[in-house]
Formats: sequence, C-alpha cells, structure tokens
Amino acid sequence: MIKKIDPGHRLLLGPGPSEVNPAVLNVMKLPLVGHLDPYFIQIMDEVKKMTREVFKTDNELTSVISGTGSAGMETCFVNLLEPGDQALVCVNGAFGNRMCDIVERCGADLIRIDAPWGKPIAPEDVSHALQNCSPKVVAIVHAETSTGVLQPIDKISKIVHDAGALFIVDAVTSLGGAELCVDAWEIDACYSGTQKCISAPPGLSPITFSPAASEVITSRKTKVQSWYLDMSLIQKYWSGAKRAYHHTAPISMIYAIHEALRLVLKEGLEQRINRHFSNHLVLKQGLEALGFEFLVEAPYQLPMLNAVKIPTGLDDATIRTRLLNEYNIEIGKGLGEFAGKIWRIGLMGEGSHLDRVKILLSALTELIG
Ligand code: PLP
Repeated sequence: MIKKIDPGHRLLLGPGPSEVNPAVLNVMKLPLVGHLDPYFIQIMDEVKKMTREVFKTDNELTSVISGTGSAGMETCFVNLLEPGDQALVCVNGAFGNRMCDIVERCGADLIRIDAPWGKPIAPEDVSHALQNCSPKVVAIVHAETSTGVLQPIDKISKIVHDAGALFIVDAVTSLGGAELCVDAWEIDACYSGTQKCISAPPGLSPITFSPAASEVITSRKTKVQSWYLDMSLIQKYWSGAKRAYHHTAPISMIYAIHEALRLVLKEGLEQRINRHFSNHLVLKQGLEALGFEFLVEAPYQLPMLNAVKIPTGLDDATIRTRLLNEYNIEIGKGLGEFAGKIWRIGLMGEGSHLDRVKILLSALTELIG
C-alpha cells in the first residue's frame, strides 16, 4: 500500500522553489469555484491589478500564464516572433541558453551575444551587435539564477529601442526581490514565476506586454505556433466584459498567487526589496567569514541568489547531502560549467529572513567551520 505523502519540512534555500507563507497554502485549501464564476472573475481581475503593481506597469496586456516561468518565457517568444524574424539573445547563463532554444523552435533567425558565465552583459556588446543586424526582439535575463548575476537593464533598453527592436526581459527570479520597473525601463515583454521571490508554489507565470508589443501581437500575419500560449486567445478569457473559456484555469493556484501578491504589496515592494538586500549582506558576511568567495563581483551580485565558490578540499555533494539529511536545509548545486564548483544559496521571498540566514550559517559552521 502506497503511503500518504508527508514530506516533512525542508528549509528551502536553493534556487527555487522558495519557502511559501502558510497564508498562501491556506487559501489553496479553500473550496473551488468554477472558472467562469463571477466571483472567480473578480479574483482574476484583482490578480491582474496586483501583477501590474509588482511589475510597476500600466500595461493593459498583463496576465498570468498557466505554467511555470518557462511557459512565460515561451509565451513571449511565440507571440512576438514569426518564422523568419530575427531575434538577438544575450546569454550569460543557463536561462539565456533556454531562450535561444525557444527562438530556434519558433523558426526565427537567432543571433546571440555571449558573456562569460558569472559576468553581466556589457551594453557596448549589445550596441556593437546591433550595428550588424536589425532584430525584431532583443532578450535578456534580469536575474540569472544559474550564476547569481544581476543584469543592469536601463542602458541596454535604450540601445535596443534606438535600434527599433522590442525588449524582452526575464524577471523570474528578480520580481518581488530586486528593483524592476517595467514602464520606467521601457521593457516590452516581461515574465516571472511564482516560486521565487513571490513565494507561492511553482505553477504560474505573471506576464506583461507593452502597447508596442501588443500591437505586434495583434498584427501578426501567421498564427501563434502554440494554441495554449496564444495571448490573443488567452486575453479573451482574462479581460473584457464577456469572458470566454480558453482552458480551465488552475483555480487553487490563482487563489495562491492572489494571496502571495497581496502579501507582497502589504509588506510594500520597496521594503521587501530592502529586506532581500539586507539579508543578503548578512549572509555574505557570514559566508566570507567561513572562507567562501562570491562568484560574481559586488555590484552585480543578486541579493536573492548567492553564488559562492566551493573552497578547495570541500566535497560538494557530501556537504549538500549532509545539510539536507541532518539539517533539513536545501541549497542549490552549480549548473553547467559551474557544476561541482559553486553553490547557489537562495534567500527568496519567505526564505529571506534573518532567522533562516542564521540557521544556515550555524549549520555550515558545524559542518565545515
Ligand atoms: N528564467 C530564470 C531566470 C529562472 O531562474 C528559471 C527557473 O529557475 C526559469 C526561467 C524557468 O522557470 P521554471 O523553472 O519555473 O519553468
């Protein structure tokens, strides 16, 4: 007989999912209503309103995709690109690579700029690349979770718009934990995920498109290759006086994001961002005292994803396994070229609290100090 699930409690200090506030888990237990119930439509409208607030945008075309952050990523590219279009992707980690894969699957012509993993993309490199091509979109990752790099956005945004392209920004890890201003930075398409600094379970992707991007979507010559992620179809369910069935909304996850966004706004975006930054500083000081060195230079370090080099003599898997088995703490391993070389310690949303930082530092001190 298979036993009922009982995962116990892990302290989630990896690259996501992050800790979820019990209030968010509680609303997921509430009774279901139908996906066209007037009460549910009101919940959806409130989710859209709060999503605009956290993205800092007035974009009409703002919604939530039923799927994780990768679904948001795919939604941006499949809606904005048609076969034969050019797309320039900035790559300095695993998620830039994923964007490239999606661009190719759209039948678009991919041009990529690569920076070494662990370094930001230089605005001059984008400028230089745009002298030799005229892409329809330029895409970049704001918070590269695979390496811990915070990418400055505003200078590159200006370069992209001067070249007449639309600007796509991945904010899966940054939304709700680092400054992100969709309208002020003139971002044309931006998506995130629920399981990082928003601190809901994984499963939805908040997304927003500027008026210019919406215009590109409505004037497409070809059908969006994905029926499920076609924004024109999704919008008929998410907006307007008469809502039409597209797919059955994941009701309990919409309850969850409603509560999670409500808590983000109740705390205050600026306060939450400051909290992420100050806890990062405490963790950093503690890790450096234990002999860890950060992979990324200080101005580009992500507050919610601390990538540190594993000191020589420490075995990656042994320590991470002991943290999990003996202390119930999850931290992340390195990806790609950093496998076995770095750890990725997440202080995201509900996980970014001083008590969590202290628990981790004292466990690490016992194991390696
Ligand atoms: N983009 C970034 C920067 C991410 O960190 C992730 C996931 O970690 C994704 C995209 C993909 O999101 P998901 O795993 O929720 O599909």
